[in-house]
Amino acid sequence: MESIRINLFSDTQTQPPPGMRQAMAEAEVGDEQHLLDPSVNRLCEEVAARLGKDKAMFLPSGTMCNQIALAVHCASGDEIIADRTAHIVNSEAAGSAVVAGAAIRALNGERGIFQPADVEASLRAGRALEPRSRLVVVEQTSNGGGGSIWPLATLVGVAEVARGHGLALHMDGARLLNAAVASGTAACDFADPVDSVWLDLSKGLGCPVGAVLAGSDAFIREAWRWKHRLGGAMRQAGILAAAGSWALAHHVDRLAEDHDNARSFAQRIGSIEGVTILNPEVETNLVFFDVAGTGQSSKDVTARLRERGVWIGANGPTRMRAVTHLGVGKPAVDEAGELLSELLAP
Ligand SMILES: *Cc1c(COP(=O)(O)O)cnc(C)c1O
Repeated sequence: MESIRINLFSDTQTQPPPGMRQAMAEAEVGDEQHLLDPSVNRLCEEVAARLGKDKAMFLPSGTMCNQIALAVHCASGDEIIADRTAHIVNSEAAGSAVVAGAAIRALNGERGIFQPADVEASLRAGRALEPRSRLVVVEQTSNGGGGSIWPLATLVGVAEVARGHGLALHMDGARLLNAAVASGTAACDFADPVDSVWLDLSKGLGCPVGAVLAGSDAFIREAWRWKHRLGGAMRQAGILAAAGSWALAHHVDRLAEDHDNARSFAQRIGSIEGVTILNPEVETNLVFFDVAGTGQSSKDVTARLRERGVWIGANGPTRMRAVTHLGVGKPAVDEAGELLSELLAP
């Protein structure tokens, strides 16, 4: 396999920088599952404060945050309302069905964002033959929706409908900090209307591993049961948590650069004949585009880019996704744009 010089496949592709590695090397550690790891405790306090929740819990991945939250909120036979593009629908191996035992009712939102009225319309009436509506899940930002940002008013409206009918609301906040930086709305304001929320450390924040799930005291107490059950309780995990605290101090404001780079990449490749930008708003760090008009398949384009050291993902026969992050600066993003334009020239 050719070496990859410019990696726009995902914001999971970051390498921990020297300052982060230093913080990891120097981390004070203890037994995480007995709450004796000072670095984990500190990270959890930081995230709980940042999100305005009582408590937080360190976990190995965002997927485990989602699965634990679904399991805490739902019982077997319950139904979860989520957008059809959601990560819990498409990318967690039907975990909701396996772990919580819950079905998902997929809504057809606009760029991954549905409206309070859509939730209202999808509620079950409580008849014995129906699943029981139990939880609404929103993704901030919506990955499949193109990195789109849930407006606060829409979130609040969805929360009102959910609460009014006794449903809980969970936020998949894999890129919540991208939404906060891009919109100027604080992460705690986006988190306020939801019962549970998590941040991914291993996406744009640039950590090697980890995610932090937050909620009320009662929610986190129950979440600990699932953390043990699923094998997510750790030991000297402070080495990983220290990377998270370092990232929260150094890698949040800079997400704005990723958003600028994504926008400039979209502008460049949007001018290539036959290329359509699918999320022309480019609100954050994701650029989805379609190469159908060039007569090439995404598989071919991906392979030709890879020969030149550039990795951009294919996620449909002609659809592709580029993701900007701290490992790819402006010159590299420009170079990838130029290369695409060269490869796709008629
Ligand atoms: C990446 C991602 C996840 C899963 O996070 P992992 O840390 O990779 O398990 C969940 N939801 C969304 C929207 C994501 O982009």
